[in-house]
Amino acid sequence: MSRLVTSLTNPTVKSVRGLHMRKEREQSGLFVAEGLKIVTEAVELGHAPRILMYGKDAEGHALLKRAIQATLAARGEVIEVTQDILAKVSRRDNPQAVVAVFAQVFTPLTHLDPAAAPCFVALHRVRDPGNLGTIVRTADAAGCGAVILVGDCCDPFSVEAVRATMGSIFAVPIVKATEAEFAGWRSSWPGSVVGTLLSADVDHRQASYAKPALILMGNEQQGLTPDMAALCDVNVKIPMRGRADSLNLSVATGIMIYAAT
Ligand code: SAM
Repeated sequence: MSRLVTSLTNPTVKSVRGLHMRKEREQSGLFVAEGLKIVTEAVELGHAPRILMYGKDAEGHALLKRAIQATLAARGEVIEVTQDILAKVSRRDNPQAVVAVFAQVFTPLTHLDPAAAPCFVALHRVRDPGNLGTIVRTADAAGCGAVILVGDCCDPFSVEAVRATMGSIFAVPIVKATEAEFAGWRSSWPGSVVGTLLSADVDHRQASYAKPALILMGNEQQGLTPDMAALCDVNVKIPMRGRADSLNLSVATGIMIYAAT
């Protein structure tokens, strides 16, 4: 059913290692997800692995058998690999026993249905993959309809971002849009559009989050640009009581999402 691969120069192993590079991910449209739990969740949501690699530690596990079946049914490749290969593919000393490759899915902006959820999140020029992954996970937990990446953002399918989503990358629609596309689409948004600005006067708890609420978050360094802030019905500030001058982007997004839902 599957063959044992022990060589780092094996073409499949090389191709999976290459997916650490953004260029390779963009060219192939593929990405890596690690861990049996996450791979199982992906399979349950209808995403079959293109490649499934597993080590001795996972052998015989009922969930692995299901993942292998789903991979083979979709004409994917299944290989058993050594611990050394898992470590190299994951770039970790303690790798997960299962590593899989999936097709990236981006949802077109025009396919979003505002009535499908009480809250949608838009991130302008997010830079940090850990922040992005954590936000996707929080958006999933709170039942958001999508995470929209506006402008030049980091890659939601990087290994770091996918790890931080803890599997939610398969559950939340991810959308890419230019600033102009977002501005055009926002003009027909039926609910509230709430931006977040450190210079805002309105406390985030005082704002109206008429459903569906579209929450707009700024970049880690520059914050929300004036153009983006101008697209919002209201811009709000989460009170800062101590010496810190801002919150981490993913923490601020979590507070906003739960205020809006
Ligand atoms: N130096 C940046 C600035 O002037 O906005 C700090 C950006 S902050 C690290 C990243 C993003 O998190 C902000 O653009 C905003 O969306 C959100 N954010 C962080 N703290 C916030 C707060 N207290 N109130 C509202 N939004 C906040």
